[in-house]
This record gives sequence, C-alpha cells and structure tokens, in this order.
Amino acid sequence: MSTEEMQETSIVDQNAEGGFVFTTLDAAINWIRKTSLWPMPMGLSCCAIEFMAVACSRYDLSRFGSEVTRFSPRQADVMLVAGTVTYKMALAIRRIWDQMPEPKWCIAMGACASTGGMFRSYSVLQGVDKIIPVDVYISGCPPRPEAILESLLALRKKIDRDKPARTFFKTAEPREANCPDP
Ligand code: SF4
Repeated sequence: MSTEEMQETSIVDQNAEGGFVFTTLDAAINWIRKTSLWPMPMGLSCCAIEFMAVACSRYDLSRFGSEVTRFSPRQADVMLVAGTVTYKMALAIRRIWDQMPEPKWCIAMGACASTGGMFRSYSVLQGVDKIIPVDVYISGCPPRPEAILESLLALRKKIDRDKPARTFFKTAEPREANCPDP
C-alpha cells in the first residue's frame, strides 16, 4: 500500500470512528422520498412531447432521482398529467391514480391539465384537480422542459414539509379530491 493510500485509509477510519449524523425520522423519510420520485407520465396530448424532451439525456432527470419512468401505477410516485383532460379520459385517470400506492403526488403540466386551457368545451374537464388532488401546477402551453424541472424542485420542497413519521406506522388514508368521482 502506498503512503497516499495509507493516508486516505486513515482519514476514512477517523471519520468512521468519530463521525455521526444528527437528523430526524421525518427528515430521513422525506429525503428518501424526494430523491426517488418515479414519475408516471399521463401523456394525453401535446404537452407529453415536452415530457419526452425532459426525459432525454440533455436535461438529466437522474439528478433528481426521477429518471425511472414507470408505466405501472403501482410502481410510480408522481403522476405527471400532461395534456388535455377530456371527460372520456377522466375516469381512466382517476382509476390509475387510485392504483398508485401512498404516498403519491401529482403534477398538472400545462394550461390544459391545470385549467382546461383554451378548451372551454363540453368535452374537456376544466382542470385535472376536479378529479384528483394536484400538488404542483405548471403554467405554459406547452411548458418548457426547464419548467418541468422546476416543478420537481417545488415538489421536493413540499415533501420536505411533510411529517410522515406521525403516520408512518398507520395506514395512509387517501387524500380527498376536490370533486366527486367522475
Ligand atoms: Fe397542448 Fe398547450 Fe394544452 Fe399542453 S397546454 S396540451 S401544449 S394545448
């Protein structure tokens, strides 16, 4: 072993013997949750193309632990509703949301998913928050990939404020949507 290697080993050993970390159970759980937010892209129309862009290497979603896109609701943490929510799709979205395990979060991506956008139509739901709870809204038509990254950071901040330890050993109760089932 070289002298440099011996010095490195010595430093590591010193840290291992004397080092300790203070944290709370809430902070530890929140850190685990926020650094592995696996998205489920609910691509409904044009906004989904922007999510495809952000999932490419240029924007490096793995920095946020969100590069593992899941197409099974049972493996997903955050539903990313990207596009126009028609009444025809609303029931399917709600069913998929119900199949996601707690804790789960939702990002409404773009004007259409947030408010119905330009489609003041008999066939379009005026915001996905009419059927499921939304944690973060992204404005724009379509939002740029940077806005999607910003929404993930906003969601991470929101998760940081959670107090999961209080209910950690209880069965999580589903959050109420703003409106009854479609
Ligand atoms: Fe398409 Fe704009 Fe609606 Fe996104 S917000 S789904 S880009 S019309």
